[in-house]
Amino acid sequence: MKESTKLMLQKHGWRVDRFIHNYFYFRFYYPYVAILRQFVLRLKYLSWFKPIIPLGKMIFNRYHAKVLSYEDTRKIFSLNEDLQYISDENKKIVPYKYATKIIFQEPENIVVMDCPCKKACHAPAEDISSCLAVGKSVTSFWLEHCQKYHPRKISQKEALEIIKHFRKKKHVTQAFFKVATGGSTGVICNCHPDTCVSLQATKFSRRISSELSMTAQSGYSVIYDADKCIHCGKCAEMCGFAAMVFENGQRAYHRDLCMGCGLCVESCPQDALSLYADPEKLKPLDLDHIRAKAASLQN
Ligand code: SF4
Ligand code: SF4
Repeated sequence: MKESTKLMLQKHGWRVDRFIHNYFYFRFYYPYVAILRQFVLRLKYLSWFKPIIPLGKMIFNRYHAKVLSYEDTRKIFSLNEDLQYISDENKKIVPYKYATKIIFQEPENIVVMDCPCKKACHAPAEDISSCLAVGKSVTSFWLEHCQKYHPRKISQKEALEIIKHFRKKKHVTQAFFKVATGGSTGVICNCHPDTCVSLQATKFSRRISSELSMTAQSGYSVIYDADKCIHCGKCAEMCGFAAMVFENGQRAYHRDLCMGCGLCVESCPQDALSLYADPEKLKPLDLDHIRAKAASLQN
């Protein structure tokens, strides 16, 4: 048995069912996501079918994503020590029932691999290599088992360059949490609203119910300095959630729709926009805050 398979078995303990799910999920990453996408695409025809809400919640409680700001992503790809925080408080960050563990073990281990969503959605070839794994457990499995998806080890600096590159191209940074991968994060991806199965699932499921979402907002909202704005509309072009819109020369911001990704802020040539931690939203996945919480548990 390969070392990474043993590591995966250890991670799941007596939950052999989750080990098997995890094993097949990564071994067959592309067909798994391609099949899932077929279900997601059908959600857009089901906005009238309310009985699907409990099923949607059951699935999303097990597999969901958290939008990350650039700064919170930078902290993850600068981490040089193990960090573990397992607490019900995490539900304020990722508001789902099961997969809410924040665990980074040997976080300097980073691998980039082909993104199954982008392959399934026929994204441009240059965008395919964009799925990032952080931590020994997932990276070693990808390197040993997933050669057909072209995994390659990269440095933290390279990971951040990839993140910056894709953010300029309207890709939202998301951390994925999944029961089958141990209930914690380990995969961070660069997700375009048109080619990401989770963003499409969120879009279509919200048509069924505003409470149904596969994606958790980052916890930030946007403030605007009207004196600096030159009404160029770039912020609205970058927003994949219709939260920042520009019509007839007027900019409008819908805070309730804003996922706090920060792409509009980074695109503004005038520095007229900035993110703030919104007390009425979720808490950000901010490793400074999580490290402090984890330390207080140990004392
Ligand atoms: S308004 Fe800005 S921060 Fe909010 S979702 Fe749109 S691009 Fe992201
Ligand atoms: S990108 Fe900046 S300057 Fe341009 S419309 Fe938006 S806020 Fe104004």
